[in-house]
Amino acid sequence: MKEAASSSPKIGSAAGVTLPDNPAVLNAEEYASTPSAKGRAGFPKAGGQSLSYWLQQVRSDPLLDYRTTEQLPEQVDTVIIGSGISGTLIAKHHLETWPERSVIVLEAREFCSGATGRNAGHCKPDQWRHFAKFEKAYGHEQAVQIMNNEAATWRALVSYVKENNVDCDLWVGDTHDVPLDDDVAKIAKECFERYRDLGGKVDHIKVTHNPVEAAKISRIKNARACYSWSASTLQPWKLTAHIMRENLKSGVNLQTYTVAKTIAAGSSGNRKWIVHTDRGDVACDTVVHASNAYIAALEPSLKGVITPKPHICNKVVPPRAMSGSKAIQNSYGVLLPDGGLFSINPRCTADGVVMFGGSNPGQKQLDKWVEDHPEHCINDGLANIESITVCVREFVESNFEGWKDAEIGPGEGFDYSWSGIIGLSADGVPFVGELPGKPGQFICAGHHGHGMARIFTAAPGVVKVMNGEPWEATGLPDVYKMTPERLQRLQSATEVAPKVAIV
Ligand SMILES: Cc1cc2nc3c(=O)[nH]c(=O)nc-3n(C[C@H](O)[C@H](O)[C@H](O)COP(=O)(O)OP(=O)(O)OC[C@H]3O[C@@H](n4cnc5c(N)ncnc54)[C@H](O)[C@@H]3O)c2cc1C
Repeated sequence: MKEAASSSPKIGSAAGVTLPDNPAVLNAEEYASTPSAKGRAGFPKAGGQSLSYWLQQVRSDPLLDYRTTEQLPEQVDTVIIGSGISGTLIAKHHLETWPERSVIVLEAREFCSGATGRNAGHCKPDQWRHFAKFEKAYGHEQAVQIMNNEAATWRALVSYVKENNVDCDLWVGDTHDVPLDDDVAKIAKECFERYRDLGGKVDHIKVTHNPVEAAKISRIKNARACYSWSASTLQPWKLTAHIMRENLKSGVNLQTYTVAKTIAAGSSGNRKWIVHTDRGDVACDTVVHASNAYIAALEPSLKGVITPKPHICNKVVPPRAMSGSKAIQNSYGVLLPDGGLFSINPRCTADGVVMFGGSNPGQKQLDKWVEDHPEHCINDGLANIESITVCVREFVESNFEGWKDAEIGPGEGFDYSWSGIIGLSADGVPFVGELPGKPGQFICAGHHGHGMARIFTAAPGVVKVMNGEPWEATGLPDVYKMTPERLQRLQSATEVAPKVAIV
């Protein structure tokens, strides 16, 4: 593992992968947090971040270190903490709802250099796969709401990009979910059929359980089945930057390299809250926490409720045997035993470089290392983690025709991977709403490794809550709502039985 070449633990290969005995854990987007993860928190890593492929592409963009004003304003109406896709979209909807109110977005480091600027670039609405998991946790109706919300989120993102001609390498096409062995295929089939039989909308999903046909459709040799529906891939930094540039035109004050350190109550008769930063104080009436994985560093009531965890994205330049007319033309979720998943984004409308994210089996070794070294829970300076790359290599070589025997010249192959920090929510779903006991402070966070299929509706949703509209107006699943009861339940659950994550 390379973190600017320092501490290099041995993280082995994907040994010991076992099949889950509980269908509710089928192919989670990421693995559950483990007991000692309880209470883990940290501010964004100050230096030595690895550069994702997305961030490498925009090094001369002035937005990276943009500050609207040289000094911080002494007061504003609203402070938004975080400039990822959440904070940026919240600013957009805030401006549309209250054009007259002043808004500042504080970002600890470069613009959009958190998970959004480091992810695998997949916006893939879950249309059945986690239904059983959510049904088990929250009941049938909520599970259906979640599936419907993901479809609505994907549509909202695609519409925004198309209507505004956003230059962000958007691809829209069939994504394939492909179970790689018979046991996983059986669990997938049961989950899909249960959803369908309970009236879930599946008419837009093409399914084959014939392995030969599945391999032909998906080009994955060991496919046991194939489920296909519409999804997207994109360059997430460029999308977020487009929205932020529009925000700036409408009056948002963006302050990069500004860390919100603490928040204190304002003095009576003045603004409600004072946000203390490393560059001075800003008084305000409203605070929105869009800091996702980092939120518990600033808001200790969320320790153990939202937990930071490093995740890895691999960038692979396909060999000539998989390029040109033979390039991969679809995105994938490859379903592995034990809840493992490769999420594959082949950048079909752009440079054809293939991103491998998801819950790579090698991630477990990294998780173990982070458990043993909790100070690395916010380490997005990791790069080239062998245990994870090995699993990607084994997968492509044994599944994509021509890859194994391809001659790999300089500039091709497994050239780079980097870490980003996901925010695990203890009950597996995001938090949207007002922070209990903190009137005027709101949250939109805890999106796991799946925020691109959630935030385009969660961000406008939190602004509706801020506007005093009823929860129903948000259109979000009820279980996303932040309530005192939910917070209390999770706080006490993490004390008694830390392993509550339902991911
Ligand atoms: C490797 C990886 C791959 C992923 N792949 C996918 C994928 O393919 N599809 C998908 O849907 N999701 C994916 N995800 C998850 C997705 O990226 C996140 O859910 C989403 O980007 C979260 O957006 P956000 O704006 O809430 O948080 P972030 O993008 O993390 O933004 C939070 C920002 O807040 C800033 N901040 C934090 N604390 C402070 C503070 N105190 N003061 C000032 N600023 C602060 C941070 O620096 C950061 O920029 C992936 C994540 C990772 C790490």
